[in-house]
Amino acid sequence: MPIAPTYRLIYASHIAPVCQDDLKAALTSIVTRSIPANRKARITGLLVAHKGWFVQALEGPRAAVETLFTAIAADPRHHHALPISQGEVDGRLFEQWSMCARMLTANDEAVLSALNPKGAFDPTRIPERTLMRLLATVADVHWRVLSEQQSLAA
Ligand code: FAD
Repeated sequence: MPIAPTYRLIYASHIAPVCQDDLKAALTSIVTRSIPANRKARITGLLVAHKGWFVQALEGPRAAVETLFTAIAADPRHHHALPISQGEVDGRLFEQWSMCARMLTANDEAVLSALNPKGAFDPTRIPERTLMRLLATVADVHWRVLSEQQSLAA
């Protein structure tokens, strides 16, 4: 059977106040629900929370990504989910993540400032290439933090 091409959709949305109150708990709840569902739908991706914004990349078969985005966009934990980029891509950027979510830390902020020196964080205005680099860097940092935690626990 031919392998379906990978489709990637990146959107930004405003985090709802109800979610802001305990963002960590909200992210845990979203990730816990998403990992098995995304694995089943062959979707990989990354969710970043920063300064009142969610930015999420979803990649996988086009129909699965679009169906999931429709469900996510209707979720009351955020609003005004706006696709920033979407289309077929050569390969997955977040292959190792059925779902990875991260609140940006001070270290991530330094990366963000380097990539986007113009200041205020507004993902709808950051150039697409810069946003992709930010997401890829955040995923990489998250991977290294998890690896370090695992080696400390071993
Ligand atoms: P249910 O879980 O029964 O949800 C029913 C309705 O309640 C839906 O409208 C849902 O949006 C809403 N809802 C669910 N939990 C809560 C809650 N704690 N507080 C308020 N409303 C709630 N799901 C994935 O499978 N994969 C993802 O990658 C993914 N990413 C997400 C990213 C963000 C920023 C957000 C906010 C949600 C994400 N979700 C993701 C969850 C997704 O929006 C749906 O909750 C999920 O698809 C299940 O919806 P459901 O209708 O099948 O079932």
